[in-house]
Amino acid sequence: MLKYRTGLKDMPSYDVVERDWQIKVNANECNMNLPPMVEDRLMGRLSRVAFNRYPNEEYDALREQIADNHKLQKENVLLGSGSSEIIEKLFYCFGGTKAKKIVYPEPSFSMYRIYAKAAQATGIPVALEEDFSLDIEKFVNTVNEEKAALAVICNPNNPTGTGYSVSDIEYIADNIHGNCALLIDEAYIEFYGRTAVGLLSSHPNLIVARTFSKAYGLASARVGYMLASTAIVTMIEKAYMPYHMNVLSLATADIVYQMRHEYVPRIQMMIAERKRMSAELGKLPGVTVYPSETNFVLIRYAKAAKLNEYLESKGIGVRCFGDAPGLKNCLRISMGLREENDQWLDAIRQFVEGRA
Ligand SMILES: *Cc1c(COP(=O)(O)O)cnc(C)c1O
Repeated sequence: MLKYRTGLKDMPSYDVVERDWQIKVNANECNMNLPPMVEDRLMGRLSRVAFNRYPNEEYDALREQIADNHKLQKENVLLGSGSSEIIEKLFYCFGGTKAKKIVYPEPSFSMYRIYAKAAQATGIPVALEEDFSLDIEKFVNTVNEEKAALAVICNPNNPTGTGYSVSDIEYIADNIHGNCALLIDEAYIEFYGRTAVGLLSSHPNLIVARTFSKAYGLASARVGYMLASTAIVTMIEKAYMPYHMNVLSLATADIVYQMRHEYVPRIQMMIAERKRMSAELGKLPGVTVYPSETNFVLIRYAKAAKLNEYLESKGIGVRCFGDAPGLKNCLRISMGLREENDQWLDAIRQFVEGRA
């Protein structure tokens, strides 16, 4: 018997069914590769990489660029292998014992529960309302009653698509107790715009996490970042290995960030597609469409599991949540190219109209 770490055997796995989908709209990815101008610049940049050196300069260059854009210092920026690594490290740093409570809404990003467990902390979900709005008083009270170490809000929320106003976030930041860090996971902020970054200077316990994986279509490179006070960044940095980011990802994210204006039209197109698809889905009998501020739409349908099977049989991959709390009979569909969206919509229409 190998002597694995206590609790490892009982760790849940991240369960996504992956196949060779014809239409892949199950992971909120961007269904377009790099814009051609970005690709050109990037290939030139990669040909000049110093493969023999630890990527110190590249790490600082990206931090500085991100800091400048937010009128912060590079000491306020921490990079990670996707925002996943950042969130995982934050849970680790604010966890460590069962007495450390981490509060997050549910349904929200399914990994929060898993990171809380991995960090040996106690995860405390706060149920969202029927329409997926957040009862802010209830959230604040839970954080305070549990004397939580970390509170997390995903804004806009995955998988419901719900956006919370900056004033709601500010209310939470103002009313949770002073020994609690507040993480705002802004993985989809580029589709929404109402960021909490402006609250950082007045709220020293606030942390904002961002990713290059969604709006910037860089899921393969695994790059994310967090913005916070120097004091928080200094502490969280201790949990990272030296040189934890590789130069290929750093150089890629650096070019993409420099050229982020190139992404504005496609972000606008994704938003337009989300609006179009939400309206179309709303016309289908028995389908509830939840308002979304992201690049995906969540629907509820009584025969969701059967519909999902039908879509799978047609090579269309959407995200089905099975019996996850609050998400019974829900399917999440990310926006693909216009033609792809027309195809999955057609398949859903056939099914719900009994023509499948
Ligand atoms: C996709 C996603 C992330 C993490 O993405 P990375 O690829 O690890 O940067 C974090 N939070 C939410 C809510 C997400 O949907």
